Amino acid sequence: MPVSIAVIGAGPSGFYTAAALIKSVRDCQVDMVEALPTPFGLVRGGVAPDHQSTKAVSKAFAKTAAHERVAYFGCVRLGQDVSLAELRGIYDAVVLALGAPLDRELAIPGGGKLGVHGAAAFVGWYNGHPDFADLNPDLNVERVCVIGNGNVALDVARVLVKTAAEMASSDLPDHAAGAIHGAPIQEVAIIGRRGPLQAKFANKELSELGGLADCVPLADAKDLPDGVTGPMSERTRRLAEKNLKTFRGFAARNPAERRKRLRFRFYAMPLEVLGGDRVEGLRLERTCLREGRAIGTGETMDLACGLVVPAIGYRMAPVEGVPIDAETGVVRNRNGRVEPGLYVAGWAKRGPLGVIGTNKSDGDDVAAQIAQDAGQGGKPGRSALEALLRGRGIRWVAFRDWQRIDAAEIAAAPPAAPRRKFVRINDMLEILD
Ligand code: NAP
Repeated sequence: MPVSIAVIGAGPSGFYTAAALIKSVRDCQVDMVEALPTPFGLVRGGVAPDHQSTKAVSKAFAKTAAHERVAYFGCVRLGQDVSLAELRGIYDAVVLALGAPLDRELAIPGGGKLGVHGAAAFVGWYNGHPDFADLNPDLNVERVCVIGNGNVALDVARVLVKTAAEMASSDLPDHAAGAIHGAPIQEVAIIGRRGPLQAKFANKELSELGGLADCVPLADAKDLPDGVTGPMSERTRRLAEKNLKTFRGFAARNPAERRKRLRFRFYAMPLEVLGGDRVEGLRLERTCLREGRAIGTGETMDLACGLVVPAIGYRMAPVEGVPIDAETGVVRNRNGRVEPGLYVAGWAKRGPLGVIGTNKSDGDDVAAQIAQDAGQGGKPGRSALEALLRGRGIRWVAFRDWQRIDAAEIAAAPPAAPRRKFVRINDMLEILD
């Protein structure tokens, strides 16, 4: 009897796990259960539409999906179409590879006003994720404040200021392109509660901002230290030094060089979102660093803006029957094992940090645990899931179905673009009918 394994979530951690399982668990059958018809998770819905080369990893994932021991069950939502308890009853092992799809809350007064859109939702919207197709952010604004100094903040800021020509070779969906390129945005402020040396920006992404066609990146020379000092790892020091050099270049730029500005504001802690029902500004408090932490100095300033995008990290969605550690916000686990029969990988295991490839070792860990625990198998797996879904009248999308959706998107691509994404699940399913 093969060992039957369900991997829930077909993003990077799901695919790396599936690949590791077929390598290291002899005679296993791996079924990937995914809420959307489309696979690849954040590679499709998170990685910025103008960073197509990062999306190339989906070719390797597609090879895994095409493996004879792997099946894809797209458009099957955990907790709605099938419960975790049911999957655990059917499969010898269940791996949660659910990522961290929710925004960490911006817990300041006014954080719930109209015009505050967390990065998970905002990025999902401009990436054509069906769950956010109706977000409809009002971009009829002159200034946007993006909160956070991580790579997601850079993605959001860059996508908002690039021109239509610069985005021509991207897969930015039409609804987002129309809204962004028709918007009167003059300035995007990137707000960091700490300093330039503490920013988590990858230098490649930061440097890219120096070459934008219609936008000049700016930093305040007063915020830039003379050098990188203090205890830190060699890797952190090298990044801080590179970023400092890049910020020095930004500080020397002339705001009048381009039509738009992308302004880094460091040592600025968000205190309150201002306005009535709708955002009208952001109150910031100047900070200083004490033992690496941002401490308010009492000096405040108000920055007028019409849109606030907190890009301050993600969190996982609770799943019935899964223990989440209150402190870390991730599934309680030891090396990927929650308990025998239940495992976790990726951001649900270790928090929303790291790049796509970081998930590979999670997959290897989980596969090793399952190889140890699973024994001879015995649960029916795939045939039982198919029977359960059929019995409920739930239509699932197989990988070859996705390949037809994929081909239709590619065929509909505007010149220079890789694809024109479907953003509605019904439109995807219609292709299959
Ligand atoms: P991140 O790297 O953890 O950055 C989060 C930022 O939010 C930090 O600057 C943090 O400041 C700030 N923050 C947190 N809470 C805050 C608050 N209450 N008020 C103000 N600021 C707050 O997270 P991310 O940008 O969401 O990225 C997630 C992961 O995906 C990262 O590992 C990232 O590198 C990766 N990613 C990579 C790429 C790429 O390689 N191109 C693209 C996108 C994402 P403190 O540092 O002060 O806590």
